[in-house]
Amino acid sequence: MVRPAADQPAIARPGVHNAPMADKVLIIEDEPTIARLLTYNLAQEGYDPDVAGTGAEGLRQAMQGGYAVIFLDLMLPGMDGFEVLRRLRQNGVSTPVIILTARGAEEEVVQGLRLGADDYVTKPFGVAELLARTAAVLRRARGEGPREAPAGEEARVIELGGLKIYPGKYEVELDGEWIPLRPKEFEVLLYLAERPGVVATRDDLMDAVWGFEYAGGQRTVDVHVSSLRKKLEMGRHPVRIESVRGIGYKLTVDRKPSGAGG
Ligand code: CA
Repeated sequence: MVRPAADQPAIARPGVHNAPMADKVLIIEDEPTIARLLTYNLAQEGYDPDVAGTGAEGLRQAMQGGYAVIFLDLMLPGMDGFEVLRRLRQNGVSTPVIILTARGAEEEVVQGLRLGADDYVTKPFGVAELLARTAAVLRRARGEGPREAPAGEEARVIELGGLKIYPGKYEVELDGEWIPLRPKEFEVLLYLAERPGVVATRDDLMDAVWGFEYAGGQRTVDVHVSSLRKKLEMGRHPVRIESVRGIGYKLTVDRKPSGAGG
């Protein structure tokens, strides 16, 4: 037995495919204590972790491929995490990336998600949260989990103003343009779009989209909404996600096109 897990069969584990080799993961992190903590816990969980202590080294290793997921610290000496992420995506490397960020650094998170990160955890992070997010990112990358549309979803379209949402395909168009959304952004948008004008509390969204409470809690919702807003504000028929102070969010659609004069 390579991995004598106490309560799980050694052959197949939920969320991890049945390949005989452990999933290789890359940790790009300059703080040795955090790198060690990550390495230890990921190895315990059955992953095969590599560590890079600088952005340049991390980029080099990531470009070689073969990793199931990359953990990327944003504040690195020399080439920072944003630059690493930008270069990876520019070079067509689509390996899922989970960014490691400081608590309260919402702007960093938004920028990271916009640059193509798949998820994030805030430091100091809980091990259970980290592993849950890692498994979720891997499931999505493999097209498992929430991407499996129920029968009938395939053909369903929700239209609101210039917005078209295809639940079965996880795709969104705004004024005929495809909008790149992360899976969780899509799920937040879908939830709101199915109830236009109706206020959804942050708890509603947490339950519907994430299914359980993270340590980061409701800030996760805010970050995804913030990122969604930036992607939706380009439309001619603005679709707005309005904040309802102290409660949550609702989606509204302007009837009149904006900037359509002349
Ligand atoms: Ca750092």
